[in-house]
Amino acid sequence: MPAKLGVPIKNRPIHSDLKSKKIYYEPERPARWPFMKFLREHSNLKEFYPDITPYHEAYKVRDNTWVIYTDSFDGAGDPWMYLINGPKKALLIDNGFGVGDLKGLCKYLTKKEEILCANTHFHYDHAYGNTQFDFVYCHEDEVYNIKSIQNPHIWDYLYDENGKGIYTEFDPQDIVPFKMYDIVPLKSYETIDLGDGYLVECIPLRGHSVGQSGYLDHQTGCLFTGDTGGAGRVVNGDPNPRNCTIERLRDDFRVIVSRIDEVSGVFPGHGPLDQTPIILEYTLEACERICEDPSRYDKKMVRVGPDGKEKIMFAKYIHQGTTMKYTLDTVYMNEDTKR
Ligand SMILES: [Zn+2]
Repeated sequence: MPAKLGVPIKNRPIHSDLKSKKIYYEPERPARWPFMKFLREHSNLKEFYPDITPYHEAYKVRDNTWVIYTDSFDGAGDPWMYLINGPKKALLIDNGFGVGDLKGLCKYLTKKEEILCANTHFHYDHAYGNTQFDFVYCHEDEVYNIKSIQNPHIWDYLYDENGKGIYTEFDPQDIVPFKMYDIVPLKSYETIDLGDGYLVECIPLRGHSVGQSGYLDHQTGCLFTGDTGGAGRVVNGDPNPRNCTIERLRDDFRVIVSRIDEVSGVFPGHGPLDQTPIILEYTLEACERICEDPSRYDKKMVRVGPDGKEKIMFAKYIHQGTTMKYTLDTVYMNEDTKR
């Protein structure tokens, strides 16, 4: 699934000591880019250990929690990963493109031997580093998708025949070696115990992909939302695309919004971090409005798909947030639920 080519960097490049160097980048986003630039260039939270991994920066956001940055390697948005240091075990949520020794960095930061890994969803910028682990957790509906990336050629699209990065300069030899790993499915609202009853709960936020989920740390109230809350919905290769709908996302959001008092901060997979939990209500409102009348969009976009065909997409603005993207044929889970 090749990414769209972005645009050459022309506006306010972010100074970086990373080994990777961006060639193409998404167009500057009014809210996202200044946040990233300010944080990465001026924050004293930044920890960078090039001897362990020259491809990652870590930022401590709670006493036992880091967000970890890596460049995007395919021209799309730069992803965040999250690391929770529990009493007995650490949990890494998402793992980027799988370039550099992320696991080594997690061990160094947490001083733990056992690093567990959970995926929000299967996309390249979130789960290509799975192959550093013996097993990964994901929502049970996402197992099909995670299996689809258990392939040693998933990185081939990132560089040309001379081993030169197409979207971002990097050394292909720094890709973690491929190996098979087990997939441990989690049911909706099932918890992972990091020792001494330290629980992290799998929160279904399905729609961006069929089994996309967030993870709620019961102790800190941090909710890590993956590409829901930071990015819009897409339909992926699930055998039943009706499982990837705004309606499904709305139903899952109704549940987490009913528990909003348990959330202290929302951490999406891209863009500004530690957003106020009210963004969950605003996201739900966007889903509700789309389901009420999908033809009342805020923006219409024509995209050319990998097959060369034009596809019309719509976007509904999320108040004080980004947009919820959708196509008219995948708003509802089935014809009967149209209203
Ligand atoms: Zn995604």
